[in-house]
Amino acid sequence: MNRARRSPRKAREAAYIQQDSRCFYCNQPMWLGNPDDFTRRFNLKDSQGRKLQCTAEHLHPRKDGGGNDRENIVAACLYCNRLRHSRRKEMDPQAYKALVQKRLCARRWHGIILTDFQVASVSEKMGVRPNCSH
Ligand SMILES: [Zn+2]
Repeated sequence: MNRARRSPRKAREAAYIQQDSRCFYCNQPMWLGNPDDFTRRFNLKDSQGRKLQCTAEHLHPRKDGGGNDRENIVAACLYCNRLRHSRRKEMDPQAYKALVQKRLCARRWHGIILTDFQVASVSEKMGVRPNCSH
């Protein structure tokens, strides 16, 4: 009767690559594996770096029956992931994403906004920054 529950690890790694190593919600770069290179590269404090650990985010939460399949997993930083699920009333992913972007622009999120220049100087790939122009 029970299907073996797959680990979200594979799905997390696939999402991490597909999202160009950026958080689904706050769009900041994340790390998988070792935070030291990451914090050094972006000149972050350890406490800041820890927030940007890549985690598997279940779009449809596990407690509501969401599974570990690829369609249900995106890569999100630890900070965004935790806060979404610690809200009294959980928001749907798109609404939460909008909230995160707004807070981020108002500097009321995890306080980390790496510029494209910082990111591009270590990687050829460019991501989309939060749109703070309005
Ligand atoms: Zn995030």
